[in-house]
Formats: sequence, C-alpha cells, structure tokens
Amino acid sequence: MHNNEIKVFIGIGSNMADPQQQVIDVLPHLDQIRESQLVSHSSLYQSAAVSDIPQEDYINAVACLTTKLQPMELLLELQSIEYAFYRQRSDELKWAPRTMDLDIILFGNIQQNDSHLCIPHAEMQNRLFVLQPLQEVSGDLYIPGLGSISYLIKQAPALRIKRLD
Ligand code: AMP
Repeated sequence: MHNNEIKVFIGIGSNMADPQQQVIDVLPHLDQIRESQLVSHSSLYQSAAVSDIPQEDYINAVACLTTKLQPMELLLELQSIEYAFYRQRSDELKWAPRTMDLDIILFGNIQQNDSHLCIPHAEMQNRLFVLQPLQEVSGDLYIPGLGSISYLIKQAPALRIKRLD
C-alpha cells in the first residue's frame, strides 16, 4: 500500500433478483473504481431483513479496498454502481427491498459525521451482518470510537445470520 492510499471497508447487501449473484457481480465493479483497488472480500452471509415490510433474506458481504479518493468521492462512485444495479431509491420506502446497497463502513481511522456521511457507519455496531463479515476480512480491528469488532459482536442485537459456503 502506498503512502497516500487508505484502507476502506465497504458493506454490500442485496435481497432482490438473485442476491447471491448480485453480490458476486458487484465485486469487479468495486475493483474498477478509479484510483482504488479491491484487496479482499468476505464470504457471503445470509441474514434476516431488518424491516417491518415482509421481504426476502439479505445476502451480505464486506469488501476491503485501498483508495486514493476522499470519502465523499468514494461515496459518489458507490452510488453510481448502485444505480447501475437498478436500485430503486424511494424516500417513502426507506426499508424496502434493494437490489444493491453499498455503504462505507470504515475509511482508515477517519471519524466524520456530517449531513452526507457518517464514518464509521452509524449503524455498524447494531448490524451483525456487517460485523461478522468485517471480522472475517479484517481480523479483530479496533473501530474508532466504538471498540473491537469482537466486543461489538457480543453486544449487537441478535439476528438470524449464517455464513454461506
Ligand atoms: P441508504 O439509503 O441507507 O443507502 O443511505 C444512503 C445515504 O446515506 C447516502 O445518500 C449517504 O449520504 C448517507 N450516508 C451516511 N453515511 C454513509 C456511509 N457511511 N456510507 C454510505 N452512505 C452513507
């Protein structure tokens, strides 16, 4: 890794239209983000949707990239990939099913909280479907302001989740 590259972790989630395939198919798109490289990714995990609307299980994974981009530049790149996967955005249906959801979980040791970005991701400590694949891909990292991943996994709300082969 060069001096001006930062290690970032991206949360990937999908629960529509062959979600396992969607998660696999998005990986090369992450590798093609300008000034960035895909370093590794977790296994796929299947988890119950956190929603009042009945819907299919989610397939989740976490990818590790190195990037020279700024956080906001990376977010815009991720959003253009989401749109390429035909994600339907709707303010009324915030928890509606999604073809592709990409979140910045960690961006080096940056802590940022403004109207566009909250890093580390604001909900990561509540989401086993982020914490488990993150632990698999990163080891037991210390999350700025939150604690170690193993500590967060012990504290997180219970959720039906399984790692897929
Ligand atoms: P969502 O519909 O849950 O994917 O939320 C998308 C919005 O969340 C984006 O428009 C971002 O501005 C905002 N956001 C805040 N923090 C993050 C983050 N760490 N990663 C991705 N999106 C974020």
